[in-house]
Order: sequence, then C-alpha cells, then structure tokens
Amino acid sequence: MRVSVIGSGYVGLVTGAGLAEKGHDVMCVDTDAARVAAIARGVAPFYEPGLEDLLRRNRPRLAATTDLARAVRESELSMIAVGTPVLNDEIDLSAVRAAARQIGSALGEKQTYHVVVVKSTVVPGTTERVVLPLLAEASRREPGVDFGVATNPEFLTEGQAVQDFLCPDRLILGALDGRSLAALEALYANFASVERVCTNLRTAEMIKYAANSLLATAISFSNEIANLCTALGGVDVAEVMQGVHASKYLTVTTAEGERLRPELVAFLWPGCGLGGGCLPKDVKALIAHGRGAGRPMALLQAVIDVNEQQPEQVLALLRKQFPVLTGLRVAVLGLAFRPETSDMRESPAIPIVRQLVAEGARVSAFDPATGEEARRIFPNGTVQLCDDLASAVRAADAAVLVTRWEAFRELPDALRATGRRPLLVDGRRMLDKTAYERYAGIGLGLPE
Ligand code: NAD
Repeated sequence: MRVSVIGSGYVGLVTGAGLAEKGHDVMCVDTDAARVAAIARGVAPFYEPGLEDLLRRNRPRLAATTDLARAVRESELSMIAVGTPVLNDEIDLSAVRAAARQIGSALGEKQTYHVVVVKSTVVPGTTERVVLPLLAEASRREPGVDFGVATNPEFLTEGQAVQDFLCPDRLILGALDGRSLAALEALYANFASVERVCTNLRTAEMIKYAANSLLATAISFSNEIANLCTALGGVDVAEVMQGVHASKYLTVTTAEGERLRPELVAFLWPGCGLGGGCLPKDVKALIAHGRGAGRPMALLQAVIDVNEQQPEQVLALLRKQFPVLTGLRVAVLGLAFRPETSDMRESPAIPIVRQLVAEGARVSAFDPATGEEARRIFPNGTVQLCDDLASAVRAADAAVLVTRWEAFRELPDALRATGRRPLLVDGRRMLDKTAYERYAGIGLGLPE
C-alpha cells in the first residue's frame, strides 16, 4: 500500500520506517526541512535504538518530503502523527487541525478514494468532531463515500520503539465504517498474530487514554507508598514492592513452576516521577476532557499531584544531609525521561536541576544520549554538561541518579574512585542499597 505519514517525530518516523519494513511504500512528511533532509539521507534525527538501521535498510521504500499535498496525492492512506501537547492542562489540537486541513485540501484534488488515519493521541470524540469535519470542509468531499476515516492509536515506548512497532502487543483499529476498517486491516496484514480490537472511533481513542492512565496510576501509587515509607523510617519500599510483586495477581507461575512477572510490575516501582511526551500530558488531557463532560477525575488528578511532588523527594534527601545547597557540588546522572532515549520532555531531571541551580548548587550532569537537547534546555553553562560518568562525579559532594541507564550500575565504583565518598541519592531505586556506603534512596531515606 502507498502510505503517507504526516509528522516524522518519535511516532511518525518509527511508524513510517516500520511500515516500509513490512513492505509498504511510505512517504514521511514533516514541516521541519532539516529533519526531512536527515531522513532522506537515512539518518535518524533523534536517538532511538535500531531506527537508523531501519531507515537505511528501507531507503528504496521510504521517502521524506515537506510537500504534504504531494504525499497525500501520491498515497492511498495518510496517517496523522503530529504532536498533541497540553496547553494550560488541556489538549492542544492545533497541529492535528492544521494537518487535517492540509490533508483535506489535497484530497480535494484527488479523484480516488483515500483513508485518513489519526495515529496521534487525541481525546475521545476528536476524530469524529474535529478531524472529519475539517477534512470534509477542506476537500468538499463526502466522508464515507470519497474518503474513509480511522483512528489507530500507538503504544510504542521510546527507547524500544522499533521493536514495539514491529512486534506490537495490540492493534487498536477504530473506524468510521467497514471500508475504512478494511484499509486498516490491509495496512496491518503483515502483523498476522497480533491481538486486534476493532471498534468505533471514540472507543479506540479512549483505549489509549485508559491504558496510559493505568500506567501513570501504578507509578504514582508506588511513589505515594514510597513517600510514606520514607516518612515512617525503617521501612524500605524496594522490599515492600518486591513483596507486592510476589502476589499471584502480579506473578504468574507456569505449569513447569517458573515464576513470570508481567511488565506491569516495572511500573509498580518507586522513583523520582514519570515524564516523557506522553503519560503526564495524556493524563492531564483526560482530566480536562472529563471535567468538560461533567465528570471530574479525582483519582487521575491525584496521580498528577503525586507526580508533581516527586522531584522534591529527591531534593529532600539531599537537604536532610546538606541543609544548605548553596555551593554544594551535585552530579545529576541521567537527563532523559527514561533510558535508551534522547527525549527530555517532562523529564523529572529538569525540575531537579532547575531547583538545585536556583538554590545555588553547582550542578554537573551526564546523560549518555541527550547531547543537543540538554544544551538547548540548560543553555549558557548553567549546568556543566559532562561527556562521561567519571567527569560528572569527579568533584561532586553528592550524586543524584535520575534515569535508569544501565551505565549507571558503575556509579558506586565511580564515586569510590573520587576518594571522597560523596552521598549517592538513588532517585530510581535502581542500585543495590548495600553496594555503596553512603546510599540514600526514594522510599528508604538516608543512610543510618
Ligand atoms: P513529536 O513532537 O516527536 O513529532 C511530531 C512531528 O510532527 C514533529 O516533527 C513536527 O515537526 C511534525 N509536524 C507538526 N505539524 C505538522 C504538519 N502540519 N505537517 C507535517 N509535520 C508536522 O511527537 P511524537 O512524540 O512523535 O508524538 C506524536 C503523537 O503520538 C502525539 O499525539 C503523542 O501523544 C503520540 N504518541 C507518542 C508516543 C511517544 O512515545 N512519543 C507514543 C504513543 C503515542
């Protein structure tokens, strides 16, 4: 099938490259000419494991352009994969609207049937009430006759996006009518054994929010328990959660007696807060949508409230040991919102670093992937951005682990090598608490 993907960010580009890998002819569209040029050269514009290989391998079937109208005219199906951030805690649909209008006017010049699929995460009702009318108005064509409409939310996780796209856990296919659904089924024909939910547009949109809200709730639940453990003292949340995970509801025992932990348990773990371009903004957008529908969402509001306090828990551990942060040398380890990505959107590292700087601490930082992004967010040398772990901790009085990069398993050795035994604050409860003498952690407190 000839497919155009509008928006070549984390989702659009991985989708485009993944569909090319599955045999489709794909045209990736973006307004950012530099990004388009990179993709056309087979270069990934951001760090995502395996993406560059996929781009190179599929160059014969993968084009990139800034010319949206041509991409739509020359394809049978267009996917909208533009960003849907929140603005004042409500979903900002301006990029989706602009893309729908532009696709609509291109459709007005097309004689053949075309299907428009919304892949961006949009609140329930958006495809029907916003995208479809814009397409109809701009094209002066009839939905369900001249063009089809579908919703196909994406569940990939940055850092493992290529694998997630090529081997998804589910396919959510929301469609206006049978012909639109048939187009989606044809698009995913090479994903034979994947569980599908075929439904209407609004239900498909809601599934994405329900799924993300559940994960965010699991994280904030664990953080709330962790914060109580810290306050009580003498209780280690890591052991508490280990005990919780052992429940038969969270650990499956196979007929051979093997104990298997579903990946949900990774979300039932304490940390310094959830971030990224999805979970926080999706929960906020759903809360606002609920409010608009006369259904305040008290539980999800609490999920956000707990999350917003979480970076402060890390700083509180530092403050207990060092009541005055002015002049304190703090190494922040990890700036990305999760490992294996360069994405810093909503990363808890940002409020942690900003607060440290505001209180006069001297901050050094190291992240294996965030390079340019970190320089953009922390300009003018406000933070000393280091090229490796050893340089970041060399002069530190304390080190704060913010992102679960595997490389940080070396942190205890790197701290010992300084010869000064700086305090280690494990904001992710990633390291063994006995592996270093001055270990403090979320949900554990300070060393005795
Ligand atoms: P992103 O910001 O990385 O990418 C969006 C891209 O769209 C940008 O490159 C931008 O230049 C481009 N764009 C904007 N308007 C355009 C237009 N009119 N024409 C062409 N290009 C345009 O965003 P993302 O992280 O890929 O997210 C996209 C959508 O997917 C969002 O709705 C998000 O919630 C959802 N989603 C994201 C993830 C994730 O892990 N990032 C996972 C699942 C779903």
